[in-house]
Amino acid sequence: MIPVAKRSRCGDCFRLTELSGEFAARYVREHLVPLELRPGAALSSVDGVWGRFGCPVTDQVWQYVRDPEPGRPMLKRYPYASPEDLASHGFWERASAEWRRVHGSGGGYEFEAFNRMYSQQWRSYLRSLQAGEGSPEAAIVFLEVDPWCPNSGYEKQKVMRFVSRAGLSSSDRERLANVVVAVVKKGRRQEFTELSLLAKRIWTDELAQRLRDVASAPATASRAVEMLFRKRFTR
Ligand SMILES: [Zn+2]
Repeated sequence: MIPVAKRSRCGDCFRLTELSGEFAARYVREHLVPLELRPGAALSSVDGVWGRFGCPVTDQVWQYVRDPEPGRPMLKRYPYASPEDLASHGFWERASAEWRRVHGSGGGYEFEAFNRMYSQQWRSYLRSLQAGEGSPEAAIVFLEVDPWCPNSGYEKQKVMRFVSRAGLSSSDRERLANVVVAVVKKGRRQEFTELSLLAKRIWTDELAQRLRDVASAPATASRAVEMLFRKRFTR
C-alpha cells in the first residue's frame, strides 16, 4: 500500500485520466515505467509500443495503445481503487451497478467498469491474501456485497479460498458465517468447494444450527446444506 505522503508527490497521475498524441508519448517516456510489454517491443521508441505502464511514485497503472488514427498514441489511466475503496461496501455496490449498466457495450465505458471492479490494486490485494498476508477485511466486504461482476463465480471462489487462509477475528468469523448462510440460501453451485472450505474454517454449533434451519426450507438450499455437512469431515 502506498502511503499518502508519497502519493501526493505525483499530482498528474491522479489528475489526468487520458492523454493523446505527443503528450502521451512524452508522459510515457519521461514519467512511466513499463509493467508489461509485448514481447520484443523496444522501449527506445515508445511510439511503436503498447502495454501497461506504471507510475514509479504512486501505484497508478496506465494503458498505452496506438490510436486507430495512425501516428496518434493514446494513454489511458486504469481506474484506481484505494485500500479504503476496496474495504467499502458502497464502492463494490457502485462498481457492480456500473458493470451491469455498461456490460456488453464493449467500448471505453466497459474498459472503465471492468477495470474499476478488477483494479490492479484489488489484484495485488488478492495476491497478498493468497500468500497469507494482509487483512481479510476487503475480501469479507466483497463477499458480503456479492457483486455482480465479470466471471463472478470464479472471482468469488478465489476470494473464499484466500480468505480461508487469513487470520480471522471473532467478528470476521461471524460476518463470514452470514456469508455462508446467504450463499447457501441462494443455492448456488459453482463456488461450493470453496464455500465448504470456508464453512469448515469458521464452523461453530451456531452455524450448524443456522444451516439446519436453512435446510428445512427449499430443496436447493437443503441439498447445499447437506453438502456442507458432509464436507465438514473430509480433508
Ligand atoms: Zn505519476
